[in-house]
Amino acid sequence: MKIYVIYGGENAEHEVSVKSAFSILKHIYYDYHTIIPIYITREGEWYKGSEVKNKETISTEDQLSDLNEKELFSFDELNEEECLAFPILHGPNGEDGTIQGLFEALHIPYVGSGVLAGAVGMDKLISKGVFKEAGLSVLPYKEIKLREWKVDKQNVCSNIESYIGYPMYVKPANQGSSIGITRVLDEEELTKAIELAFNYDYRIIVEKELPVREIEVAILGNEDVHTSLPGEVAKDEQFYAYEDKYFNQESVVKIPAEISDELTKKIRKMAAVAFEAINGSGVARVDFFLTNEEDIYINEVNTFPGFTTDSMYPKIWTKTGIPFDDLIEEVIQLGMRRYKDKH
Ligand code: ATP
Ligand code: MG
Ligand code: MG
Ligand code: MG
Repeated sequence: MKIYVIYGGENAEHEVSVKSAFSILKHIYYDYHTIIPIYITREGEWYKGSEVKNKETISTEDQLSDLNEKELFSFDELNEEECLAFPILHGPNGEDGTIQGLFEALHIPYVGSGVLAGAVGMDKLISKGVFKEAGLSVLPYKEIKLREWKVDKQNVCSNIESYIGYPMYVKPANQGSSIGITRVLDEEELTKAIELAFNYDYRIIVEKELPVREIEVAILGNEDVHTSLPGEVAKDEQFYAYEDKYFNQESVVKIPAEISDELTKKIRKMAAVAFEAINGSGVARVDFFLTNEEDIYINEVNTFPGFTTDSMYPKIWTKTGIPFDDLIEEVIQLGMRRYKDKH
């Protein structure tokens, strides 16, 4: 099968996407597939590279964003028989259903969630409503629209202070990798945090902070949902920031998380419920908050989680018994199967 591996992207998680693509290209089964890399620049141009013949062909991440044949990609090529798109993209314009909509319109099979799950999963405001409807608990939150903010900043701040209280998290509604997010401790920081988040979206979400542990569950499957052992993000600071996720070797993941069997079972079930509630397919990583009283709150579903060699998603499956290369092959097959089931 011919697989178009698409990465980069016109968004703030561009660099993470290239890292994910690099590690995926190191674990794909080259004997079974023809791999064509497609790089989307930060400006949104699509470039096609020459076939990647084996994992040795690519030795550095930089090579991926420096395709030697700078040939603009034409979507006509995707209409060939037996081809599959593998979008390795995080964040808006990639993980949020937009590119998936393009593939749907062109009748091209692709890896991962569809339009609906991508859009709902990426939107922290809409997804919270869907989770609540599915019977899952979410932390108290409030929406701020750019329009309200422009009209009366003071009023917005005092509403947030009385409804949420410090410490709180201010986040763009649609974003990932902790980009645009601030942990806010006082009034002075609040305005700055809101302005920062509005650089990324015109709707933002403010959430209450609880002293919590962060537990994450990996999902693999379409209708037949498989959940992994839960992993824990063990960090010495409250906020799991961008640098900790990709550049700080000290942030560690504990797999499995040190929690009781009973809690493990409960969280795995909740992860499957959340995935089904947004109509997810293929892969996802479901993030939870766990309090000392063992209350579990869902934070979010990432429909295309980080796939770098240090990322929770591939690590968790390795520990659960699925090696990285088998995982990639399964993800490809799930994409193909989903397309065949629908057509
Ligand atoms: P990613 O997609 O990379 O997982 P994201 O950008 O979608 O991240 P969140 O997962 O919502 O953002 O938040 C990033 C981090 O901020 C969390 O992993 C956690 O460390 C911290 N955090 C966010 N919201 C809260 C909260 N309400 N209470 C406590 N910690 C929080
Ligand atoms: Mg996220
Ligand atoms: Mg994400
Ligand atoms: Mg998260």
